[in-house]
Amino acid sequence: MLIDGHGRRVNYLRVSVTERCNFRCQYCMPEKPFSWVPKENLLSFEELFLFIKAAMDEGVNKIRITGGEPLLREDLDTFIKMIHDHNPDVDLALTTNGYLLPQVAQKLKDAGLKRLNISLDSLKPEVAHKIAQKDVLSQVLKGIDKALEVGLGIKINMVPLKGINDNEIIDLMEYCMDRGIKIRFIEYMENRHANIELRGMHGKEILAKVKEKYTIHALGREGSSPSFNYRIEENGYEFGLIDPHKHDFCETCNRIRLTAEGFLIPCLYFDEAMSIAEHVKKGDVEAASQVLAQVLKDKPKENRWSEEKAEDTNDSSRAFYETGG
Ligand code: SAM
Ligand code: SF4
Repeated sequence: MLIDGHGRRVNYLRVSVTERCNFRCQYCMPEKPFSWVPKENLLSFEELFLFIKAAMDEGVNKIRITGGEPLLREDLDTFIKMIHDHNPDVDLALTTNGYLLPQVAQKLKDAGLKRLNISLDSLKPEVAHKIAQKDVLSQVLKGIDKALEVGLGIKINMVPLKGINDNEIIDLMEYCMDRGIKIRFIEYMENRHANIELRGMHGKEILAKVKEKYTIHALGREGSSPSFNYRIEENGYEFGLIDPHKHDFCETCNRIRLTAEGFLIPCLYFDEAMSIAEHVKKGDVEAASQVLAQVLKDKPKENRWSEEKAEDTNDSSRAFYETGG
């Protein structure tokens, strides 16, 4: 069992398989980075799996594949199958912008993927285009339909932004309601890579928009999830709010992150990371496990990001597209 330096059980690994992306979301990667990580520095699926297998054997039973856009990585289904075959009971999920799903949803399902989180910020083609800086909406909606058709579990993530998609909170929620999908509203997190003109909506403002039409009841957090859940009185629909400005989910944080280059990151808002790359390249699982033990020891008690600090300085240096959000 993996326990961190504050006594929390860590059973959740988020694996970023690429930092590259086919969108240029204004809140994440508004411009193509100056340089991408060279392909030769990316760990192969076999190398990533060597570590993941050891982590699963130590009690990791929840794995999320993310990016960048993870569906850009060729043969992702074979990687998913490796993980699934090692432990079919592992809760295996993927976060995607949905654009490539029409082509690959069936393959992912067949490989053993259970659940998808799909980012959907608008139902208006021009607004989706403005946010992703590409004409994406119809393809993403097709991707959602395809994923539903093949039987993948789906959640939708929306980042509400003032003056851009803040008037679509109810529309997006109702789109999800009609399809039996849960929506989670994510507070925009300032970071120095994002378009500096963006203004996110505070959790309270998001809830106020929902309350314009519905009566809501707070349910609380689900286990270690950062999402705080609410139920709509009128029809029983449940939705989530991810509010990283609060630190209250750090107490039960159960996750660590592995990047495509092999950096283990103990917390999204923590700049120190340790590499397992040279160890897994040599097949030295024992040395990689020692790095993991050190990272767990160093995992901070709570995230270092605070609203005041972020608004003043856009302080978080690590990009979402590198860490996988
Ligand atoms: N490309 C995939 C996608 O967009 O779903 C996976 C990677 S993306 C970095 C993971 C999640 O992070 C997405 O739901 C995205 O909306 C969220 N995200 C990215 N930048 C963010 C920011 N500045 N604030 C809040 N959420 C952000
Ligand atoms: Fe790409 Fe996802 Fe970042 Fe948008 S949020 S730029 S889709 S990695």
